Parts: sequence; structure tokens; C-alpha cells
Amino acid sequence: MRIGVLALQGGVIEHINHLKALNCEAVEIRKVEELDNLDGLILPGGESTTIGKLLIKTGIFDKLREKISDGFPVWGTCAGMILLAKSIENDEARHLQTMDITVKRNAYGSQIDSFITEEIIEEICADPIPLVFIRAPYIKNVESNVQILCKVNDKIVAAKQENMLATSFHPELTDNLELHRYFVNMCIKK
Ligand code: GLN
Repeated sequence: MRIGVLALQGGVIEHINHLKALNCEAVEIRKVEELDNLDGLILPGGESTTIGKLLIKTGIFDKLREKISDGFPVWGTCAGMILLAKSIENDEARHLQTMDITVKRNAYGSQIDSFITEEIIEEICADPIPLVFIRAPYIKNVESNVQILCKVNDKIVAAKQENMLATSFHPELTDNLELHRYFVNMCIKK
């Protein structure tokens, strides 16, 4: 199993370490040709505007969009989720737009920009999973083909649409491997 982590900006190494802990080959992706021979790709947290611009500058944008439409497994965490979203409520920018969700950037406001909680995500694990939110977006709307995986205080913070997984939070910043295990399984099943 060979899984890439988009390494243009943001929190890359923590995802690499989690994938390695699950015995995957984990590779940092910076160039368009590196998208070949991957079983899946993680789009990490960071700054979605910056990563979005770099996707275009590197030429990764078009090829990645095409691969995702062909069923290539991707998982966007936080900024990565914004990159996948068809629509962003409070931003003019649009990025890959492959996932039928509308997100709100920096949705938790300035006072509680960052917080930690835990939740049972039935689709993923019977035990509670720690959820770390850092200037996080949440999902405002999903179309009917999108499966809602988790809500926190009535806001959607994890969802899946076929080969695409999106989470508002950062499992790579905890010791918990369950979300990564779930994504690795998505890559196996594809
Ligand atoms: N606030 C960032 C954005 O809008 C996302 C934050 C994160 O990825 N931790 O792009």
C-alpha cells in the first residue's frame, strides 16, 4: 500500500508517521509526476488558499482532479476538506470542487479557533475518537450522495462520498490511528 501526502504546505509529517505506523509506504508529493503509482492521497491541513495556489503552480491541480473523478481515493483534513469542497460559503475561491459539500472556513470564530473534543464515529470505531480542531471549517450542506459520518454540536465535521473522505479535524495530531486505518481500507477497496 503506497499512500501519498500532498506536501506543498501544511502539516505533512504527522500524516506520514501515522501511515507508517499502519505499515504503509508513505510518500510526500510535491510534483505532478509523483501522483503516479499511488493507492491514495491525503490533502493535509494548512492554509487552503496557499495550497490551492500551489496546486495550480505545480500542475498537480488538473491531474489530481481527473484522478479523483476516476475513483482515486483522497482524504482532505481541514484545509484539505476545503480543497475538495464544491462550494465555500465565505470565500470567493473554489479549488478541486470534486465533493458535493458546502463548507464554511474558519467556522468556529476567533474565540474558540481551536479546541479538542471526542466523539464516537460509528462507521469508524466503537470507541470514542479524539478530535482536534484548529481554525477549522465545518460542512454546512451535503448533497444526497454524501454520507455524514460525524457531527459535533449539530455541525457536520466528517463526511464521505464514494472515494472521497473529508474531516474538519486533525487525527494526525493525536495518537489515534482509526481514521487513517479507515482511509487505508478505502484505498484497498477501490
Ligand atoms: N483555516 C484554514 C483554512 O481556511 C484551515 C486550518 C487548518 O487546516 N488547520 O484554510
